[in-house]
Amino acid sequence: MRKFFLYIILIVFICFCIPIIFTNGFSKPTEKTASEEIDEKQQGDSENSKEKNNYNYGKYSTIKLLHSKTNKVENVKLDEYLLNVVSAEMPVTYEKEALKAQAVVARTYTIYKIENGGKHKDADICDDSTCCQAWISKEDRLKKWEESVRDENWKKIEEAVNSTKGEIITYDGKPINAFFHASSGGITEKPIDVWGGSGYPYLQVVETSGEEGYSQYSSEAEFSEKELLEKLKQKYSDIKIDFEKKDEIKITEYTDSNRVRTVKFGNKNLSGVETRTILGLRSTNFKITHENGKIKFSVIGYGHRSRNESNRCRCISKTRK
Ligand SMILES: [Zn+2]
Repeated sequence: MRKFFLYIILIVFICFCIPIIFTNGFSKPTEKTASEEIDEKQQGDSENSKEKNNYNYGKYSTIKLLHSKTNKVENVKLDEYLLNVVSAEMPVTYEKEALKAQAVVARTYTIYKIENGGKHKDADICDDSTCCQAWISKEDRLKKWEESVRDENWKKIEEAVNSTKGEIITYDGKPINAFFHASSGGITEKPIDVWGGSGYPYLQVVETSGEEGYSQYSSEAEFSEKELLEKLKQKYSDIKIDFEKKDEIKITEYTDSNRVRTVKFGNKNLSGVETRTILGLRSTNFKITHENGKIKFSVIGYGHRSRNESNRCRCISKTRK
């Protein structure tokens, strides 16, 4: 009888315990691989963002658009308005995913403007890119494209807007002030280091990658000593630079993203932003060389213009076709 029980115990062990051992049933949980951790984090993030982005802006299905040339306010459907904005802000030849990102940014910016109040008393937003965001009528947009690609191009715009319908970028459950640029040159800048103010917690210095392939990634601007002095004198009539001396033109301070914060030009210290504005550079991420009577600015990236320059605070697309 005792043997019988021993057999039973052995059979139970063979049937249940051994398979459990081989299938790690009793083993310690294995350590997660890095990719598993990233997957879990992303899943968590996306659950969070789903929760946060569960933001209902349905009440803004129609917006008041000010046409700056005629000074007339038109009630337009938000999604239709976005087609006109996306097709004005970004060349249609850009990748589909870029157009989708632009659609989300345009939608977010529009809702932000409505909720936070813009510059216009009787309208939510205007059609001037130097004030709010660019807008072009469908008719004018189509005219600018070759007839053979009109339908195809417009469909591409519609797809970007429709496939992101309802999507906006939020922070703490509210739409963000969505700025954008053509190329951050590998690292973004904090708006506070461009425009001052109190900044935005969600816009910080972050590294980006893969921008080197962009045609406007780097640029150069070269001036003779005379040209440089003339340009600077338009703003600072008492500026003096002794070009014979070393270190008369020199970067003296950088921002957290390694852009130029201050430049010494002879007896004046200018901010990087001001230097960019006066000299028409594409970014404050530049180096200066002074050789053979020429001052060369080698610039990386293509960013926002400063508010002082043109009051244009969002867009930089140059080649809209
Ligand atoms: Zn405006």
